[in-house]
Amino acid sequence: MKENYVFTNTTILTLDDTAPVRYNACLVTEDGRISYLGQELPPQLPARHKRIDGRNLLLCPGLVNAHTHTPMTLLRGFSDDCSLEQWLSHIWPAEEALTEDDYYYGSLLGIAEMLAYGTTSVSDMYRSSHTILRSAVDSGIKATICESITCPADQDPALLPSVRRSIDLIHTYNGWDRGRIRCDTSIQSVFQTTPALWEFIGDVAAREHIGIHTHICETRKEVQNCIQNYGCTPIAALQRAGVFRSRVAAAHGIYVSEEDLEILSSSRAVVVHDPCSNLKCGCGIANLKPFIQRGIPVALGTDGVCSNNSGDMFETMKFTALIQKGIHEDPTFADAGQVLSMAVQGGLLSQGREGESGILAPGRDADIIALDLSHPGLSPLTSPVSNLVYAAHGNHVAMTMVRGNILYYKGEYMTIDLEKVKYEVKKCMERLLL
Ligand SMILES: [Zn+2]
Repeated sequence: MKENYVFTNTTILTLDDTAPVRYNACLVTEDGRISYLGQELPPQLPARHKRIDGRNLLLCPGLVNAHTHTPMTLLRGFSDDCSLEQWLSHIWPAEEALTEDDYYYGSLLGIAEMLAYGTTSVSDMYRSSHTILRSAVDSGIKATICESITCPADQDPALLPSVRRSIDLIHTYNGWDRGRIRCDTSIQSVFQTTPALWEFIGDVAAREHIGIHTHICETRKEVQNCIQNYGCTPIAALQRAGVFRSRVAAAHGIYVSEEDLEILSSSRAVVVHDPCSNLKCGCGIANLKPFIQRGIPVALGTDGVCSNNSGDMFETMKFTALIQKGIHEDPTFADAGQVLSMAVQGGLLSQGREGESGILAPGRDADIIALDLSHPGLSPLTSPVSNLVYAAHGNHVAMTMVRGNILYYKGEYMTIDLEKVKYEVKKCMERLLL
């Protein structure tokens, strides 16, 4: 039987336009959804429920990490302070040595970090997607997962093992646990794939009604090489191959042209901004203004912890706001509300989950996080939105709830044996570094 919860005397950032902030309010969850929100307790409470005194809590919708590679949490600190090309040359051989168990425990470590830092839904693209899926299923987090697909020249896309794994994943698990788990497909990047693969994946996504996750326009060199090889930008190349018929989670989007912006604005693409990873790899930084001016949705991601080196979406939110203000010399741009919306609604849109949660209101999935207002770093609470984006860190999160299940509460995990995970990860790293 599912536990129901009644939060009393609490501060609630609903993100609902009608009443964005409520003080001394009550929130009730029932069967995984928010069943009531108001100033007084409802006349009737669910038959079985736990009451939580919310006097020192700020409840708000869970954050969405719209681009990461969770097993890479294993490789935190493995390769720092080098170019993206050098970084990839360090990472790829290490990845070859990873076992299924490594992927599983690495992924669980990443999920444990994200849950502790208030992420309730994650988009993951990596090899061995079945194993990542198992860690997401076991942990209780919401996840949109895809197999990372690369394609050497002259290979028939239909015969690639990664394509077969991707299609099998979609047919077997898309919609698992009433949609808690979703499966998309991917094009790892234009420079690691071929035009035949782009067309093939474009058709798969259109046929299966799923999204495509891709890294795009991450470096200047990637764009220059694409123009040299194909006579157009990576975004135009994917457009010609029919990729933008479907929802696309376009990670990075740093070097985009006017034509690219036109393509994105007339599609269902969501640009996933990953400022920490982009800066750390010295790739540059995306200018978000042209996307916003054209109505192109923006989501936020940490990218893999191996290039970040943290899974903290609060850090990503603050970087996003400050950098955009700095590059535009405009403190009014990328305000706190706009950035929080990217980290919640933008992320859900990129996963095709809009309407599922995103605001705290009756009928929505109870994907809720609670920040600990007893911490001096969150006091005073003059503006909850401001504190969330500019003052909060992941370790201010006291509780993370997904679909009404508390998965993390004040340092305790309900679904993850963290000691076992850390032990297995340490064993893996000792083997890799031998
Ligand atoms: Zn990435």
